[in-house]
Amino acid sequence: MAASTELHFLLVAQGHIIPMMDLARILAERGPRVTVVTTPVNAARNRATVDAARRAGLAVELVDLPFPGPQLGLPEGLEAIDQMVDKGIDQTFFHAIWKMAEPLEEYVRALPRRPDCLVADSCNPWTAGVCSGHGIPRLVMHCPSAYFLLAVHNLSAHGVYDSVGDDDMAPFEVPDFPVRAVGNKATFRGFFQYPGVEKEQQDVIEAEASADGLLINTFRGVEGVFVDAYAVALGQRTWAVGPTCASSSMDNDAKAARGNRADVDINHIVMWLDARPPESVLYISFGSIAQLPGKQLAELARGLEKSGRPFVWAINKAKADSDVRALLDEEGFEDRVKDTGLLVRGWAPQVTILSHPAVGGFLTHCGWNATLEAISHGVPALTWPSFADQFSSERLLVDVLGVGVRSGVKVPVMNVTEEAEGVQVASGDVEKVIAELMDFGPEGTARRSRAKKLSVEAKAAMEEGGSSHSDLTDMIHYVSDLSQKRSHEREMSTMAELRNNKGN
Ligand code: UDP
Repeated sequence: MAASTELHFLLVAQGHIIPMMDLARILAERGPRVTVVTTPVNAARNRATVDAARRAGLAVELVDLPFPGPQLGLPEGLEAIDQMVDKGIDQTFFHAIWKMAEPLEEYVRALPRRPDCLVADSCNPWTAGVCSGHGIPRLVMHCPSAYFLLAVHNLSAHGVYDSVGDDDMAPFEVPDFPVRAVGNKATFRGFFQYPGVEKEQQDVIEAEASADGLLINTFRGVEGVFVDAYAVALGQRTWAVGPTCASSSMDNDAKAARGNRADVDINHIVMWLDARPPESVLYISFGSIAQLPGKQLAELARGLEKSGRPFVWAINKAKADSDVRALLDEEGFEDRVKDTGLLVRGWAPQVTILSHPAVGGFLTHCGWNATLEAISHGVPALTWPSFADQFSSERLLVDVLGVGVRSGVKVPVMNVTEEAEGVQVASGDVEKVIAELMDFGPEGTARRSRAKKLSVEAKAAMEEGGSSHSDLTDMIHYVSDLSQKRSHEREMSTMAELRNNKGN
């Protein structure tokens, strides 16, 4: 693959940054030079990952462009969704992201040579104009599951969303789908599929249709049928290049620094886990954005305490959320569980924890990264979705792959009725589902062995000869050819212009 050594990929990372950083490393390992373009806060969070790649001799560089938030009245330094406390500013935040086209355009114009390809997450359609202006091939990277992408596509294409109107809870079955999938608008909503962001949604759809191809962070072993159907539905070249978290080249330092600097001493966590029996510990995390209502948090804590199981609970919002502080400190939860539980206040080294043999279950909000991390590490999941694609990841884990147990959450956090005060799973049920997940009887053992088998398949997909490795090779060849073709077309059109000018 001689051509790939000269290729230059520009990866635009604003949202879904972790898999994009993984992709940067994986691509650079195959020869191309990679530049990750993001904003200052996101760059700071991911600098250690880039440094680790550079120490390994990989041609990865990180560039931060100014974030236009303050121009629109957003606080200085607010550059990621998980930093938002005031939920009312989402729309301004998206407008600010869209305005990143200006600094990106300037950056690209100043480059000595046109990049061979720009890869942007599907939520960054504003990159399309920059690419078309400079004749840069553009790929869209999808970071939810292919199951979710296909379901949302089919529900739209068959008019199902329109037929249920404003009724979020009206039940439906996904039409023309490889497996039986039932749900409602509340639990099957696409990204940007809510009032106020119609333009953004349309931009996302158009930028996907006009892209030169699609990457999906998944693998054919679990999602081949959905990937193929989605490629046909969109009429696009599509490559399944994940799970990016399962790449064997991620060493311990890279794992520990993934996504952000951990707010806990890694050695302390590892030693704590080392002292626990294999597969005995439940790891709990709701990702970087989701937040449980106060009453629900208290029910979860009570159930966890009653279960008596060892656990590590990563509470990302521990510093900002007063309900969390009240539970942990004033009500004395942390003190009461000190023999069985370890609490991480802030960013946890999630992949380090999931890689540890003492971890036997993962109570997860079913973000797609978390879902892939559970699958890649062979850890059965206790599914507790909150919003967006998370209910689809739950369906995939429980109904399709048989490696999950449902917590019992039925509706997204925002659809919970006021009378319920946000509680969907009472403490007794928490205790029951934890026991079911961590069980070593026939069902639990079968679930665990399915999870282990998937983990082997996920890792194999990323190795040479594996399906995701081959898809990535194919994508690199495709980009190499396409970039040459575009250069040739540009030369031809410049020459034609010159001839025209001479003639005039
Ligand atoms: N993550 C982490 N430590 C934390 C919280 C999250 O390392 O304390 C990582 C996690 O491993 C995953 C990502 O952040 O890779 C979260 O992505 P996901 O799609 O699971 O959920 P989101 O945060 O986008 O809802």
